[in-house]
Amino acid sequence: VDAGSPPPPVRRVGIMGGTFDPVHHGHLVAASEVASRFVLDEVVFVPAGQPWQKAGATVSPAEDRYLMTVIATASNPRFRVSRVDIDRPGPTYAVDTLRDLRAEYGPDVELFFITGADALSRILSWREPEHLFELAHFIGVTRPGFELSDDHLPEDAVSLIEVPAMSISSTACRARVAIGDPVWYLVPDGVVQYIAKRHLYR
Ligand code: ATP
Ligand code: MG
Repeated sequence: VDAGSPPPPVRRVGIMGGTFDPVHHGHLVAASEVASRFVLDEVVFVPAGQPWQKAGATVSPAEDRYLMTVIATASNPRFRVSRVDIDRPGPTYAVDTLRDLRAEYGPDVELFFITGADALSRILSWREPEHLFELAHFIGVTRPGFELSDDHLPEDAVSLIEVPAMSISSTACRARVAIGDPVWYLVPDGVVQYIAKRHLYR
């Protein structure tokens, strides 16, 4: 070890989990805003495998959701997409996502788990909530229509921040495609084209 040089700065990595069916500008604005406010080196988008909260609902094939997320994030050098959740068999739990990414990045990074107000309010129902907060710092972001509150959440483990309000949901995008309404400007152009090419949400 060279005692004369300062230690390298700890890398700060955001994790944005979601179903991304499809990924939309609400996701991208939230990730971009958190990256800026928390000075993150990168944000990893992690499309869910088999979303356990949505068991019973029809979810597009993981490969389509993965590719749409790649298309949506490709132009941002600080965004990347991880396959950890779609390659792991069985339902997706945030605690597994965090453990896998921790193993991939090693001990010398700080992890920040980014989640919308709706998902944050359900956090304590996630698997192993007591371990989640040891694995990452949690950042709850505003989402129109959902109250952002940290009731019952450990204060030092969770930050709440306001992001520019984008009243977009994947559910609404799917519903629009189903009735032939446009999703231009709600999702990135390449995602509009991918949805058409693969006949998703028809
Ligand atoms: P669906 O309607 O199918 O549930 P969604 O729009 O909620 O889709 P998800 O993939 O479920 O998208 O969301 C992934 C993450 O992004 C969650 O933490 C969610 O709270 C957050 N998120 C989704 N849309 C927004 C938005 N418009 N603003 C802020 N956060 C959002
Ligand atoms: Mg959702």
